[in-house]
Amino acid sequence: MADPIPFTLLHKSSDSRARRGRIDLSRGTIQTPFFMPVGTHAAVKTQTAADLRRAGAQVVLSNAYHLYLRPGLDLLGRTDGLHSFMGWDGPILTDSGGYQIFSLAKLRKMDADGVTFQSHLDGSQHRFTPESVVQIQRVIGAEMMMPLDDCPPGDAAPETWREAVERTTRWARRSRDHFAATDSHYGHPQYLFCIVQGGTDPDLRRRSAGELLELDPAACAIGGLAVGEPKAALFDVTALVAELLPEDRPRYLMGVGTPADIVRAVSLGIDMFDCVLPTRNARNGQLFTPLGPLNIRNARYRHDLEPVQDGCGCDCCTTISRAYLRHLFTTGEVLGLRLATAHNIWYYMQLLAALRRAIEQDRYSAWAADFLATYGEPAT
Ligand SMILES: [Zn+2]
Repeated sequence: MADPIPFTLLHKSSDSRARRGRIDLSRGTIQTPFFMPVGTHAAVKTQTAADLRRAGAQVVLSNAYHLYLRPGLDLLGRTDGLHSFMGWDGPILTDSGGYQIFSLAKLRKMDADGVTFQSHLDGSQHRFTPESVVQIQRVIGAEMMMPLDDCPPGDAAPETWREAVERTTRWARRSRDHFAATDSHYGHPQYLFCIVQGGTDPDLRRRSAGELLELDPAACAIGGLAVGEPKAALFDVTALVAELLPEDRPRYLMGVGTPADIVRAVSLGIDMFDCVLPTRNARNGQLFTPLGPLNIRNARYRHDLEPVQDGCGCDCCTTISRAYLRHLFTTGEVLGLRLATAHNIWYYMQLLAALRRAIEQDRYSAWAADFLATYGEPAT
C-alpha cells in the first residue's frame, strides 16, 4: 500500500468545514488551503520562478499530456526532471492529461486498456495507459501525481458517466499497482492521488468515492466539475464528496475557480485548488481585486492614476497606475500581460493567505461572508 501524503491537520473551523493544515514534502512544506498557479507547458505564462516565489506561490501545477508531447520525456529525463528543467525548486503537481486528451487531442479512441489519440500539435499517434501515465510522471518528477481518468464532457449522457466511473476505478487500481511496483527516478517521494468522478449524479459520486477509497490513495481529488455545470451543482457535488473523503488526507477540487468559488469551497472542506483564471484572465485585461474584477481596457481607466488595487504589494500595483496598464493593453505591449498576471497571482496568493489566517483564528464563516459581500457576490 502506498504511503498517504504527509498531511497534518492544524485547525478545524468550528462554524464551517474549513480546515487549516500542512503538507510536508521533500521540497518544502505547503500551508493549506492553497492555490496552484497553472504552468501547463512548464511555465506560468509571463512569470519567472522568482516571480512566483515572491508572490507566495507554494506549488506549480503542470500537465503530463503537454510535457510528454513537448519537451518530451527524453529531455526531461536528461535534466533530472521538471524542477531543474524549469528552474522551480518548490513542489510540483502534474495532472495526468486525461482531461486534455478528451478536450484537445484528435481522433481519440478509448478501450478497456487505455486511450489512443493523435497529438493536437502534429497529428502523430500516441497511446496512454494508466501505467504509462504513472511512468511519465515518474520521469517528470512531480511530488503530486494524478492518475489517468475518464472525464466525459459536462453534457454527457448518464450511461456515459456510469461507464466513466467504472473505468476510472479500474484505471485507478492499475495506476496504484504500477506506482507501487516502481520507484521515484530522482530519489524524492512522490504521491499518487485518486480522482472522484460521477458528474452531478450523487449516487455515482458516492459510488466513485467508495470504490476509490478502497484503494487507500495518498490523497483525493474531485474531478469532472467546472466543466459547464450550474454553480449550485458544483457546490452540491463538492459538499457531498468532501463529506465522503477521509479527514486525514488533503482534498483537491480540480479546476476551481473564481475567488468567490474558492472561498465557498474552502468552507466545504476543500484544501487544494488550481485554475487558469488568474493567468488567462490577466492576459485578457481582467484584474482581480477585493471589490470584484475590473477590466483594465475599460475607457473609465484612461486617466486613472491609482494602482489597480490600493495596498497590493505586487510589481504592478507598487510601480504603475491603471492608466499606464491600460495604455500597455491598448498598444499591445507584452509588459502589460506580465504585470497583469503578476497582480492576479499576487491577489490569489494573498486571498489564500488571508483565508488561512481566518481559519486559524476560527472566524472563517464571518470572514467569508464579509469577503463575498465586498466582492459583490451573494453569500449563498
Ligand atoms: Zn497588485
